[in-house]
Amino acid sequence: MAVIKSLAYGHGAVPVAQALHDVVDAFAVARMEEAVTLRDAGVRTPLVVLEGPTCGAHLETAFKLDLQVVIHHEHQLALLRDYADEPVDCWIKFDTGMHRLGFPPARVRELFAELSRLPDVASLRLMSHFACADDLSDQSTPDQLQCLHQATAGLEAERSIANSAAVLAWPDSHADWVRPGLMLYGASPVIGKTAAHYGLRPVMSLRAPLIAINHLQAGDAVGYGATWRAPEAMPIGAVGIGYGDGYPRHVGAGAQVLLNGQRVPVIGRVSMDTLTIDLRGIKAAVGDVATLWGEGLPADEVAGWANTIAYTLFCGVTARVQRCYKD
Ligand SMILES: *Cc1c(COP(=O)(O)O)cnc(C)c1O
Repeated sequence: MAVIKSLAYGHGAVPVAQALHDVVDAFAVARMEEAVTLRDAGVRTPLVVLEGPTCGAHLETAFKLDLQVVIHHEHQLALLRDYADEPVDCWIKFDTGMHRLGFPPARVRELFAELSRLPDVASLRLMSHFACADDLSDQSTPDQLQCLHQATAGLEAERSIANSAAVLAWPDSHADWVRPGLMLYGASPVIGKTAAHYGLRPVMSLRAPLIAINHLQAGDAVGYGATWRAPEAMPIGAVGIGYGDGYPRHVGAGAQVLLNGQRVPVIGRVSMDTLTIDLRGIKAAVGDVATLWGEGLPADEVAGWANTIAYTLFCGVTARVQRCYKD
């Protein structure tokens, strides 16, 4: 079940669905609106809505558009009991330890029995979600897995708990359906492991042109707040990308871009439309294209400089960035 929520982690839900539809068994999105967009675009693959319905009309939509809905909360049970029209495919989500969404594990059997009898439940599957699968040393993952097995033992239903980190690092957790998200886009979901370690390749490359080369005198300050000063006379470059495009303003010292095959330091503050780079010793011309992350510069590395995770970099690429799709 390929997770393509949040515009396929910023890559574009419809293009990603079109690229993957014949190699997956299902897609997953978070919200009903995301599912409707995919169906409107002609995507016919089985489609799971991870946060499920928030009103009765959503169940009708789920029936009409053949969506599978996750039922994780009492208010959704009430919707199901009130809605007695056409049958909808459901997942019961229960909480094995993350304490974000889901019913208590002790209720799984009772809910399974009740929902199995409801005429508007066409089929029933079981899911949960890991809190710490990205941490290979964390004991809560085996604990959650054991909770899954205990809570569902003997129930005749397909099960799912594995996100990307669990797909790669916790083979015992795969069950009937795996739900990879981040790994599909080529970043590493596991702390301390690179994407390359798992043979993952970046899907997105974020690029922008060098729009100016300027020459500083020793002591000249660069950018808003004058936070960086030239230690000597030197060339700097201005790259036409900034936080208005989703490049993190808060990358710290050590941040780099890739230009003409070389790593080049980012200097001064990132502004809305522009960031500046240190061109000492670099062969560069206006019009050269810098890679902010992607091929040759893993998003995971950039995320580290910004004290965040690749998920937020991907999801944060803004609407003004022009998307170009290969093939
Ligand atoms: C987002 C999400 C996933 C995918 O997580 P990744 O870490 O991106 O693989 C799987 N299951 C649920 C319920 C999710 O919300």
